[in-house]
Amino acid sequence: MPQRSLAFVLLIAMMFSASSSAPQAAGPIAVMLIDGESGGPWHKWQLTTPVLKKELEDSGLFKVDVVTAPAATGELTGFKPVFSNYRVVVLNYDAPDDRWPADLKKSFEDYVSNGGGVVIVHAADNAFPGWQAYSEMIGIGGWRGRTEKAGPFWYVENGTVTLDEKPGNAGSHGARVPFSVSVRDTAHPITKGLPAAWMHQGDELYARLRGPGKNMTILATAHSDPANGGSGHDEPMLMVLSYGKGRIFHTALGHDVNAMSCVGFIATFQRGTEWAATGNVTQKVPASFPTADTISYRAAIAEMDPNYKKGLNALDTAK
Ligand code: ZN
Repeated sequence: MPQRSLAFVLLIAMMFSASSSAPQAAGPIAVMLIDGESGGPWHKWQLTTPVLKKELEDSGLFKVDVVTAPAATGELTGFKPVFSNYRVVVLNYDAPDDRWPADLKKSFEDYVSNGGGVVIVHAADNAFPGWQAYSEMIGIGGWRGRTEKAGPFWYVENGTVTLDEKPGNAGSHGARVPFSVSVRDTAHPITKGLPAAWMHQGDELYARLRGPGKNMTILATAHSDPANGGSGHDEPMLMVLSYGKGRIFHTALGHDVNAMSCVGFIATFQRGTEWAATGNVTQKVPASFPTADTISYRAAIAEMDPNYKKGLNALDTAK
């Protein structure tokens, strides 16, 4: 009996400690994760959605509902997700302009205007080039016929945000190799406490993105190397924006499971999603965060891609 009593006392102590240190009593943050379509087979949302869901739920802060949109125009007339039931909508989704009916677009605009959070992951900034409100939410995007009509190129040159009006198609990337990410805003809750520069796991480095860039702050950039098809500029990688009362976190990182296994991707995605939902970040920077010259990734995440068994170098040839 004394042993059981001790265990009971310890259990009560643990419960008390857990409840008294919990930052919020309101339960997990409700997240809607939208997938269902991409620009091509190279963006395997069927593989990456479970990764994004796991990364958010592993933090203990979020409860994620996956909503898969039909991938054919006309089928979305009955597709009416209730955005307002969620604090933040994560888009692992890339569809053409005519896919969403006008009332669905209006419902999403109202949700964000009224304070709903949005997270744009990688190719979600390819979606909907002709939807003006969406362009304002993402700030900058690429592909799907975007040209100078979409807005200027945005990049950082000599430490200064530069808007480049020269004509040309939007969107490019080189081969997937590890690259250095530089934090440009050390005061923002998402990037506060991160190393000034850190090595990202092999990923597409998006370059030559264009758009209105309204109410956009560039939190981090990466140098797009001309030797790897790059622009020669420091390209925006992590951005925050506002649209009405809504907060948007946009990460250009995360082409595939391998890229999403980077501890730098995971931590900024978790922090960015919390910020988009609440305006604050309560999560600590993990001790395993990559350093200025060393990548760091979670093997348990990378293994969620069947190609992982072939080794990291096989991934680029799987393109
Ligand atoms: Zn990609």
